[in-house]
Amino acid sequence: MRKRHFSPLRVFLAATVILVALGLYVVANAIQFAADYRSVTHTYTVLRHLDRIESLKHQAVAESRGYLLAGRAENRDNFWRIAGELQRESDLLTELVIDNTAQHDRVIQMRRTLDARLRLSVQAMQTWRAGVTGPQKGVPPLSAIRAGDRDVALRLEQLRNAENVLLSMRSQRAERSAWLTLLAAGIGIPLSLLLIGHAQRLLARENRVRQQAEASASASNSELNATVQQLARLSDSMASLSQYSSMLQGASDAQELYEITAATFRRLLPGLGGYLYVIRASRDHAELVAQWGASVAPNDPAPALQSCWSVRRHAPYAMEDLRHGLRCAHIGRPSGAHDVHGLCVPLSAHGEVVGWLSLQGEGQGRIAEESLAVRLCEQLSLALANVRLRESLRHQAVRDALTGLFNRRYLEESLTREIARCQRRQQPLAVLMLDVDHFKAFNDRHGHAMGDAALAAFARMLKDKCRPEDIACRYGGEEFTLILPESDLPTALERAEDIRTSAALLRIGEAGGAALRITVSIGVALMPQHGEVGLELMRAGDRALYRAKHEGRDRVAVADEVPVLGRV
Ligand code: GH3
Ligand code: MG
Ligand code: MG
Repeated sequence: MRKRHFSPLRVFLAATVILVALGLYVVANAIQFAADYRSVTHTYTVLRHLDRIESLKHQAVAESRGYLLAGRAENRDNFWRIAGELQRESDLLTELVIDNTAQHDRVIQMRRTLDARLRLSVQAMQTWRAGVTGPQKGVPPLSAIRAGDRDVALRLEQLRNAENVLLSMRSQRAERSAWLTLLAAGIGIPLSLLLIGHAQRLLARENRVRQQAEASASASNSELNATVQQLARLSDSMASLSQYSSMLQGASDAQELYEITAATFRRLLPGLGGYLYVIRASRDHAELVAQWGASVAPNDPAPALQSCWSVRRHAPYAMEDLRHGLRCAHIGRPSGAHDVHGLCVPLSAHGEVVGWLSLQGEGQGRIAEESLAVRLCEQLSLALANVRLRESLRHQAVRDALTGLFNRRYLEESLTREIARCQRRQQPLAVLMLDVDHFKAFNDRHGHAMGDAALAAFARMLKDKCRPEDIACRYGGEEFTLILPESDLPTALERAEDIRTSAALLRIGEAGGAALRITVSIGVALMPQHGEVGLELMRAGDRALYRAKHEGRDRVAVADEVPVLGRV
């Protein structure tokens, strides 16, 4: 269960209440104490006046007695002076006890008895003056005087007793309030000090909690800021990705893909350089097809697939330190003193690796924009696969499946184009029509599959003999056409002869211990002398081929009157 804590404010409040109550109590007690002190002083004053009245009464009685004994006027005058003083003292005493009804009544009683006693003395002195002595009429009897003295003494005693009772009460009250003040201070001050100490501890704890809360709030705030920035970056990246993707989709061929990729990586990852490798159709090596801003040169422009760890692992491969750490074999050693880090990302689509992208940046560590780079590579992989698919479809549309040579449709298109180009340049052009001799018999003897193998072997040889500008086609069946732009008759004849002899040397297979071989007949037609349009030239070539067949096969014939070369 959670421990319940009072708030420091409440504890401070409690301490304050105790201190204020204590203060009020002490002030009240001090006021009471002052009042008691005044009362005690008052009582002592009353007692002093009582003593004085008693003393003056004795003096007055003594003076009257002196007068009675010696008859000195001085005694009588003193008596009256003292009587006057007694009068004033009695008035003062009456004033002093005016707030205490009981004492006031007693003072009145005492004054009456005192007056009565003094009257007895006055009466005695007046009688003595008239010369009367002894127990005569008019002289107050001794018993009356004694009774008067007792009365006065009694009243004074009563007054004193009453004042002493008051004095004792007031002293006790003052003592009690002093003790209570001490007790209250003794309990209240330590208690409030304890409470203040506790409140300070609570306050310190609350401060700690607040500081922790502030720290965690500031941490969550920076986390939130980072997330917002990340989201903004992500949104930018998404926009750039979608732009890159749409540009890739619009690319017409692989070369355009490479250029778009280099430009996009330069723009989106400005601190990084890179190399783009694409795996050749042969699938044994890759080809460096694009590069931008990388400081470390590649080891090999046509590296093996196994040279890249990302291709081997089918996952991005980060290299935090290209100088000292493990790096892919296709990356050279960094030169100079500065550190370089890198990242290779495989380009794979439909489960097949089509290449990889290798990035480099200054310093050590991981590439911060790794996820963006990987996403860009995903787009590039798909686009590369699409371009390859398109190229393969295009290839299939213009190529013959068995031999890989161009088909008849492509032949007709390209012949027209090449004739026009050579005419523009005022250059000749040769068309060679080739037909495998007795191929029906070859098929019949060795089977159709062997026939196919013979056609494929012949086509390979034909391709090997071609210059880049030559166009080799399978016209149909076992018939082929070769377009030789910018070739004159001697060159064309030389090329035809070379092909014919090479065909005769091909080893197709074996049958009964002997090598299977084929021969070809070739008809040659020239532009412009045998025609200036494709169909014309092909017909002329066909006629020459027919003649070569007719004249015994395995030979080259030139269209029209041009003499035929014999067997070499
Ligand atoms: P000639 O020397 O007069 O040219 O005799 P030939 O037997 O070669 O000529 P013909 O036109 O009589 O026969 C052509 C043969 O080529 C017929 C056909 O079976 C064969 N042929 C055509 N296309 C293919 C092919 O794609 N594969 C195979 N194996 N044979 C084919
Ligand atoms: Mg034929
Ligand atoms: Mg034939």
